[in-house]
Amino acid sequence: MSPRFKNIAIVGVGLIGGCVARDVRERDLAGKITGYGRNAKRLAGAAEQGIIDSWHDVYNDSLAEADLVIVGTPVRAIAPIVCDIVPHLSSGAIVTDVGSVKKSIVDAVESRVPAGVAFIGGHPIAGTEDSGYESSFAGLFENRVCVLTPGQCSCSRDVDSLESFWRALGAEVVRMAPEEHDRIFAAISHLPHMVAFSLVNAIVNMQGFDSSILRYSAGGFRDFTRIAASDPVMWRDIAMMNRDNVLDTIKHVEDTLSELARAIEAGDENEIERLFQKSRDTRRSI
Ligand code: NAP
Repeated sequence: MSPRFKNIAIVGVGLIGGCVARDVRERDLAGKITGYGRNAKRLAGAAEQGIIDSWHDVYNDSLAEADLVIVGTPVRAIAPIVCDIVPHLSSGAIVTDVGSVKKSIVDAVESRVPAGVAFIGGHPIAGTEDSGYESSFAGLFENRVCVLTPGQCSCSRDVDSLESFWRALGAEVVRMAPEEHDRIFAAISHLPHMVAFSLVNAIVNMQGFDSSILRYSAGGFRDFTRIAASDPVMWRDIAMMNRDNVLDTIKHVEDTLSELARAIEAGDENEIERLFQKSRDTRRSI
């Protein structure tokens, strides 16, 4: 059974923070939801829509009331924010995040968290290419995976409690090391974004490109490039914070595209078909 928290603090009431808040409310998982952030007007807007109960645009002693803190800001802001808020927290509080990169955040935070407070990295594998609480909705995490990256010193009771929380939001929870998380998500999430951004740019940069041809774009181009509409700053930060893994995967795509180009150049139809069939079989097995 999921624990019911007294006060869940959400730092960064954007798309993911807003979705968490809506589910917490709908499933009655907290007595109160308090939003924190840097923009009073936006926080007030989220409160007006009933996503959060109250808000603060400073990290102050009101945080002492929170028994669960979820940091939902862009990845680069997460570690500095956790370091800023932990001195205000009461003993027993659990702090987690939803960032798409884990190792650099966990490394920066672990030694800064005082005794009595737990930090457990998290990453729900769910989202959209939209941003902001206006785009949030209930049920985003239903039947999705949420990765938790407990540290060596994480108390198992706290990890169990956070795991029950995500389960109550409908997610399947998987625990793994931050390094493993970053390696896996470089391949299956970060790389597709890098390729989608680059594919759109490659087409636009083609000699003689005329934007009117985009009106002929149908399923293929649209499906493949949906995520190229994602937030550029957020993805810049993810690329920088998972740099080595992302570079490895980009190199791998370059090699794989070159392999295909060689087969096409050589007119090797068997090889072209073999490559496409391999891909089709993998995609169909998902
Ligand atoms: P978002 O809609 O842009 O929300 C980010 C929120 O953080 C906004 O409320 C923003 O508020 C606030 N914020 C930004 N910088 C801040 C700072 N320095 N201090 C305090 N608040 C700040 O982004 P999102 O899509 O929810 O993504 C949030 C996190 O979830 C990211 O770490 C991302 O990696 C992760 N994630 C995203 C997805 C996805 O598909 N979108 C999926 C899984 C995980 P203001 O700008 O109004 O101040």
